[in-house]
Amino acid sequence: MTAPTPTAAYLRGVTQTDQTDVSTDDPGAPRATYDFLIVGGGMVADAAAKAIREQGAQGSIGILGDEPTTPYPRPALSKKLWTDPDFSYDDGEPSTAEETGAEIHLETRVVGLDPDAHEVTTEAGDRFGYGSLLIATGGHPTTLDGLPAGDRVLYYRTLSDYHRLRGLVPEGEGDKPHVAVVGGGYIGSEIAAAMVGEGCRVTLLHPDEVLGESVYPREFAERYQQLFTDAGIDVRGGSKVAGGLEAGDGVQLQLDGGETVEADVVVLGLGIQPSGDPISDALDRADDGGIVVDERLATSAPDVYAAGDVAQYPDPILGRRRVEHVDNADSQGATVGRIMAGSDEAYDHTPMFYSDLFGHGYEAMGTLDASLETVVDDFEDGDGGQSTVLYYLSDDEVVGVLLWDCAGGLDEAEQLLAAHTRPADASELVGRIRPQKNDEDS
Ligand SMILES: Cc1cc2nc3c(=O)[nH]c(=O)nc-3n(C[C@H](O)[C@H](O)[C@H](O)COP(=O)(O)OP(=O)(O)OC[C@H]3O[C@@H](n4cnc5c(N)ncnc54)[C@H](O)[C@@H]3O)c2cc1C
Repeated sequence: MTAPTPTAAYLRGVTQTDQTDVSTDDPGAPRATYDFLIVGGGMVADAAAKAIREQGAQGSIGILGDEPTTPYPRPALSKKLWTDPDFSYDDGEPSTAEETGAEIHLETRVVGLDPDAHEVTTEAGDRFGYGSLLIATGGHPTTLDGLPAGDRVLYYRTLSDYHRLRGLVPEGEGDKPHVAVVGGGYIGSEIAAAMVGEGCRVTLLHPDEVLGESVYPREFAERYQQLFTDAGIDVRGGSKVAGGLEAGDGVQLQLDGGETVEADVVVLGLGIQPSGDPISDALDRADDGGIVVDERLATSAPDVYAAGDVAQYPDPILGRRRVEHVDNADSQGATVGRIMAGSDEAYDHTPMFYSDLFGHGYEAMGTLDASLETVVDDFEDGDGGQSTVLYYLSDDEVVGVLLWDCAGGLDEAEQLLAAHTRPADASELVGRIRPQKNDEDS
């Protein structure tokens, strides 16, 4: 079956072979030089380009991105595109080029950076010069050596992946494939929910005993897992996939205990690695490969900035970290765009993150780690339903808050984290944050 093609709105860029606008007669000169050059055409690039213009800068903006599409809202790939029949790619289209005049070079992979020459080099051998440079390369999926990506094996991250999966899982009635989802984190959970919503038989393979138990306290993880089993998903804990083989119309997965699992399609969500290599070899790097930036999102090289999933930054409340979430991408993108355009501000936003599953949703801030001391606070939401607030505590302070099916509460969560303290008796936190749905309505 042929996958549907992306709508035209996401293809309004300049492909590598069509770059007629930037050619030069001088063979020694870069292919083009931009006042503001952005490497990576994702969510940060969109926010940064718009902020450069909002700040009033008139200089040229170039975006070099290796995907065949212009920037798009990535969270919809595992949620709205599957759950909302009225949602299409044009909804929420960032329209980066139209709003900013940026030249977007599609399918253009950057492989080198020369900070002294103020130039980057692409895989095709072109050089692009810059006044200031933003590295916004995000992350790429963690892969298994024993299971290469293929027609039916997807390490899910991009709009192209969505189209491929949609081609294998057609809309409407008819035969649906058996989908094995590998990984019980963010992407795995959301894709499993989306696939069962499409009418697929779904097997969710994850290494823990109970789904989500490394993130949620055990009693909450059991409730969380129940949502998946109630939806008809075969949740198989203790399953570590070692490799697999794609052949014909299916895939055979090999578990490290020797067991095999057959499926028509396999979607893997095993986390991501920051995509700095090899551009960031000239820059200070964190242990996990992220690019180290200061509070103004500047790297160790002059006029070079980094933001989004790839950047390890000093959060004013939570300390140094790399955040792989959209609120951070949007806010850091906007801040770094203004900074590159002359603003003297620093990045002082502590980002939240969220997920939506089976009609439930959460917002969270800080560190969610079930090995920490935790408090589970269940309460009536004021509208006939139940909400839960999870608190995560180190020895000295509250370090994370998760608001499950709550109508607000993020401001209070941020204040709690910013206080850098904790009650001696953790149970005193019960009742601290109690957002009520009818408060929101009023
Ligand atoms: C399926 C999915 C669902 C998500 N859902 C949520 C959610 O519900 N809530 C939430 O908070 N977050 C969510 N996220 C995370 C969020 O989308 C990311 O945090 C955000 O996209 C990061 O933005 P970015 O610009 O840093 O990276 P990206 O948006 O990944 O963009 C980076 C771009 O750079 C390109 N690139 C990489 N290397 C190079 C190179 N060398 N040369 C040129 N281009 C390069 C990449 O191909 C990519 O196009 C989700 C992510 C995915 C994949």
